[in-house]
Amino acid sequence: MDYDLIIIGGGPAGMTAGIYAGRLGLKALLITKSFGGQIAKKAVSIENYPGFESILGIELVQKMEKHLRIQKIDIELDHVLDVKKKDSNFLISTKGKKEFQAKTVILASGADPRPLEVPGEKEFIGKGVSYCSVCDGPMFRNKVVAVIGGGNAGFETAIFLAKVAKKIYILEHGSSPKAFAANQEIVKKTGKAEIITNADLKEIKGDKFVESIVYKDRKTKKEKTLNVKGVFVEVGYEPATSYVKGLVNFNKRDEIKVDYETCQTKTPGLFAAGDLNVGVVKQIVTAAGEGSKAAIAAYNYIQKL
Ligand SMILES: Cc1cc2nc3c(=O)[nH]c(=O)nc-3n(C[C@H](O)[C@H](O)[C@H](O)COP(=O)(O)OP(=O)(O)OC[C@H]3O[C@@H](n4cnc5c(N)ncnc54)[C@H](O)[C@@H]3O)c2cc1C
Repeated sequence: MDYDLIIIGGGPAGMTAGIYAGRLGLKALLITKSFGGQIAKKAVSIENYPGFESILGIELVQKMEKHLRIQKIDIELDHVLDVKKKDSNFLISTKGKKEFQAKTVILASGADPRPLEVPGEKEFIGKGVSYCSVCDGPMFRNKVVAVIGGGNAGFETAIFLAKVAKKIYILEHGSSPKAFAANQEIVKKTGKAEIITNADLKEIKGDKFVESIVYKDRKTKKEKTLNVKGVFVEVGYEPATSYVKGLVNFNKRDEIKVDYETCQTKTPGLFAAGDLNVGVVKQIVTAAGEGSKAAIAAYNYIQKL
């Protein structure tokens, strides 16, 4: 079947685009690996999305997904591998070996956790190395763990882990943590966290599972070992844009350049909304806003064809 619009991604940007597409009467398909994106991984409550003073990430995801699913649009749980131009249409192929065509496409695949790129990281994924405390944290009950990254995400992860873990080391590369003072205060109150600054992580070691990490103290230049059973990686996110090379322009951070008013990329009919584009604010409300902007722009584009 040929679609008016295909939306790639089921985070706040993609789900909002889907809700707008349904209400605009577009023949639309939303393809996503999973629903919720980064908010499904949020370790503490969300307190800055209008209408909800405090809501768990997973609860907000369920509400958005429910709102999406009442629209008359198709949904596929799949992983998009390629987006190509075929005559005046876009051709999309997926890991599930399916192909779809559409007049317009909204890229809303957001961002993936940035890896540490140290020895041991890849080997121990799922064996102590995690990028999602909400998903994996409960497995570390009464264990000593490390959080790599002293920004807000790292501190929120530590707040969540403090409910189960015995002790949490937070390793920050710089000379002081970057997290908001409020988050630092909550972590301090748990009495379970030790913050190590100027820490340059060198290696994750273990046998079948993680046993320890090695870091270099950037001041003393000495290497130190910490015995931990879990390593939670919170060193930022990078745009999930590798499947769309050729049709869009990128900035230095591999974020997609778009027109501010419409979220259109350099290719007419191809839009990019949410954390994967050059927008400097990466939040749920901005991703949702861009999802709506892109869906309306796709609708207007189709009207003019
Ligand atoms: C730990 C943490 C805490 C945060 N806390 C807050 C907060 O309190 N308040 C706030 O406003 N913001 C917060 N944010 C930021 C917010 O979550 C993001 O700005 C927002 O989720 C971006 O939405 P998005 O739809 O652009 O992308 P994402 O949320 O990244 O969603 C992308 C979606 O695309 C799918 N996808 C990716 N690649 C493909 C592919 N190739 N094929 C098919 N599907 C694909 C993914 O499965 C995912 O569903 C937080 C982020 C993190 C990581």
